Amino acid sequence: SASADAERALLERRARLLGPTYRAFYRNPIHLVRGSGVWLYDAQGRKFLDAYNNVASVGHCHPRVVEALSGQAATLNTHTRYLSEIILDYAEKLLGTLPSHLGHAMFTCTGSEANDLAIRIAQHSSGGTGVIITDFAYHGATIATAQLSPAAVGAKGVPAHHRAVAAPDTFRDGGRAARDFARNVAAAIDDMRAQNIRPAALLLDSAFSSDGIFFPDGSVIREAADHVRKAGGIVIADEVQSGFGRLGQGMWGFANYGLEPDIVTLGKPIGDGHPMGAVIVRPQLVSSFGSNTGYFNTFGGNPVAAAIGIAVLEVIEGEGLIENARNVGAYTGALLRALQSRHGMIADVRHNGLYFGVELTAEDGATAAAKTSSVVEAMREDGVLISSCGPRGNVLKIRPPLPFSRDNAEQLAETLDRALSKW
Ligand code: PMP
Repeated sequence: SASADAERALLERRARLLGPTYRAFYRNPIHLVRGSGVWLYDAQGRKFLDAYNNVASVGHCHPRVVEALSGQAATLNTHTRYLSEIILDYAEKLLGTLPSHLGHAMFTCTGSEANDLAIRIAQHSSGGTGVIITDFAYHGATIATAQLSPAAVGAKGVPAHHRAVAAPDTFRDGGRAARDFARNVAAAIDDMRAQNIRPAALLLDSAFSSDGIFFPDGSVIREAADHVRKAGGIVIADEVQSGFGRLGQGMWGFANYGLEPDIVTLGKPIGDGHPMGAVIVRPQLVSSFGSNTGYFNTFGGNPVAAAIGIAVLEVIEGEGLIENARNVGAYTGALLRALQSRHGMIADVRHNGLYFGVELTAEDGATAAAKTSSVVEAMREDGVLISSCGPRGNVLKIRPPLPFSRDNAEQLAETLDRALSKW
């Protein structure tokens, strides 16, 4: 057909101009032209339910965010070396959502930059170098953060002074890795010390997104944090995935563990699609870093970013999106668990708010990954966008924009039911 030819031409042009590192989702890639709320529209006018994108967290092209963006862009956009009120208004509002011991906000353009800066601060303030992560984590695309992202670069890409410990998997082996998590972190510290490596930080994604989406008991996370602090390191909560209300209990995933991080890193949902990130930090950790090194990020925290950031926070509050994540999340979770009784392939359903991991099984790992990807493809053909994650690629990753409704949840569950019925 003419449209299939047009899509093929677009793919060829993309490969020719952008090169081999750009990967498109789906065997039959989607050519999106418009988004609104939880909906995405392709070039043929077909409508997809977005159950995957947490960047447009308050909804695609939210009018209030677009208005804030365009209004400020038409007035002034420069950098943080000039005095500006709007960045202070934003910092005040953002810090107001975080525990009071985290007194400073530093702005970046991406989650990678936020983690990169957090690691620099951790190494500077602790005098150590070693960072402990989980063994299929993703923390970014800069050299320092890619080296802490085995999901992207493989275990061999993690330098010898860092340690990757088993993620707190609450499902496999009856949840043994989750129960042993603090012990495994303690062992990693002992192992570092045996090689004269000083620990700088424990860096954890509060939702263990790439590891397969887990919400372990807070006690093991707190205990792991204690081990790292006793060894002179600090605790960094990577809220790039879990932050801004997604988990439905409050704004931040670390709070669900009763954890008091020393640094919190933010990204993705912070700007509803605009490139923004932030590092929130205990003031004493940056006092010497600030005078010795300083930090300047040309675009980070510019007036347009600040205007967008304020609008996002106002929408989360004004539209009750945390409460919606909690309520619709619970409803969606129940629908997904109901599917478990009809489809033996569903091994585990775990969720917090509007963040779901649906683990699929098969006779062997390779088959489970292939089936998982077929389910994702089948749902795309049926008009619902999700993805997969985990070291075995067998966990459906469902993470819709926060204004997701009960109707949307029913469409998601019915579509998943049809996709699974094909097996
Ligand atoms: N941390 C986590 C947990 C992430 O998922 C990501 C992005 N996938 C990042 C950091 C990096 O963010 P960015 O792509 O904005 O650099």
